[in-house]
Amino acid sequence: MTVRRIMGIETEYGISVPGDPTANPMVLSGRVVTAYATQVGMRAARAGWDYEDEAPLRDARGFDMARGNADASQLTDEEDPTLANVVLTNGARLYVDHAHPEYSSPEVTTPRDAIKWDRAGELVMREAVRLLSGPGTPGVNLYKNNTDGKGASYGTHENYLMSRSTPFSEIVRHLIPFFVARQVMCGSGRVGIGVESGKPGFQLAQRSDFFEVEVGLETTLKRPLINTRDEPHAVADRYRRLHVILGDANHCDVTNLLKLGTTSLVLGMIEDGAITQDLTVDKPVEALQRLSHDPTLRATVEVSGRRTMTGVQLLWNYYELANKWLQRQYGGELDADTAEVMQRWEQVLTKLERDPMEAAREVDWVAKLKTLESYRARDGLDWSDHRLRAIDIQWSDVRADKGLFNRLLAAGRFEQLVDDAAVQRAVAEPPVDTRAYFRGTCLARFPREVAAASWDSVIFDVQSQPSLQRVPMLEPARGTKAHVGGLLDRASSADELLRLLANEPRQVD
Ligand code: ATP
Ligand code: MG
Ligand code: MG
Repeated sequence: MTVRRIMGIETEYGISVPGDPTANPMVLSGRVVTAYATQVGMRAARAGWDYEDEAPLRDARGFDMARGNADASQLTDEEDPTLANVVLTNGARLYVDHAHPEYSSPEVTTPRDAIKWDRAGELVMREAVRLLSGPGTPGVNLYKNNTDGKGASYGTHENYLMSRSTPFSEIVRHLIPFFVARQVMCGSGRVGIGVESGKPGFQLAQRSDFFEVEVGLETTLKRPLINTRDEPHAVADRYRRLHVILGDANHCDVTNLLKLGTTSLVLGMIEDGAITQDLTVDKPVEALQRLSHDPTLRATVEVSGRRTMTGVQLLWNYYELANKWLQRQYGGELDADTAEVMQRWEQVLTKLERDPMEAAREVDWVAKLKTLESYRARDGLDWSDHRLRAIDIQWSDVRADKGLFNRLLAAGRFEQLVDDAAVQRAVAEPPVDTRAYFRGTCLARFPREVAAASWDSVIFDVQSQPSLQRVPMLEPARGTKAHVGGLLDRASSADELLRLLANEPRQVD
């Protein structure tokens, strides 16, 4: 076991219309998704999402996402824009969730690939903004952040495939302290303290103030540190999909790599029973907020009722456990992805411990704080100044020329792990080593015959068959290029693909 596992990132984007705070976000989000689906749709997005088994493939009013003929301009307030729900040829899902446009990345197997297909989502959103702008239209702005600073929060969810046999109580026990501390290296930084930013100041993470309980099913009310949602989108008695709702949307590659990579390692240790220390944190929700509110990183939490530790110290404990565990299992023979995560983890903790500002090329919140501090020094701004809040929002604007992060990135201020060309390719191309390969390639090759798709099936509408044909994909690690690449190459039509699959059913499922 290493850092490698099936994973995916969902990102809800913040949305607004310049100069119109009253614009209906549901309708706007519907426009974003339908604009992309219809205008880029000819090559990128066709199939409607068959979300529940019983969900209609077409809406009663003929709003037909399956054929991608919905016109953004036809959307009215009466229509339900939540129907805007499509699959892209890269295997991702693009839809409207909680009045936000959301990009759910295809399943990948490494943190590096998670970054690549997450950033592909930023390009999708950037393109949607471009499509909706132009003379005579107010356009829309999209932000890769998690709060509007006025009391609303929207999520960035991580999803990790786990073994069903791991007791959930063990996941809760070992993951809560890790999550309390993780923001120290993975937070995106935020101007304002409290859900409505009532108190002036800067904090490490966007989401921390919005959490109220330790464990629970909700994701938008009484948010829990550990979400119990149990929809595996896979063989249910073999797998769990752990749905993590506490993280921030990240911009820096290193931050995002550490978020996915270190979490995957901690999950590996939990599955393996390798966390032998008791790192239980007293009052974890309070502790989460206390650590978030202290950019000096000196704030402490009480661990297992007898020690106090800073967030960095708590993370060092997990790092050391992971290091020993990997040594035991692999000796010096770590795969490149795992070695990279361990090396970055050590490097970032070392910097944060010495002087947090040293991590400004790697860690989102440090990068943001450094920029804000330079504005504060230059213009003598107090933390209550509305201009700092505006900079915080502008930081995450998805446009290359307006987004502050993007401009600083272009100026070489951050360490990039995945180059722009690879991200650009990932907008259209699926990962090759998960079932996303089959989903995305079917859509690219046979857009007319793919009637719908979900994480665990592709549904075909072919002429030779009177009814829709469902190809189940309950094994996320099957349907890869190695499994079905040859078969897809040989199939000259969807009909033929289905015939070939009937002869070799184990390739996909
Ligand atoms: P929401 O939280 O927005 O209501 P959701 O969490 O049910 O939705 P989706 O938005 O559909 O789910 O996204 C699911 C994410 O999980 C995607 O990023 C996908 O790549 C990933 N995923 C799908 N199946 C698995 C699995 N079995 N294990 C881990 N990740 C998975
Ligand atoms: Mg989602
Ligand atoms: Mg989710």
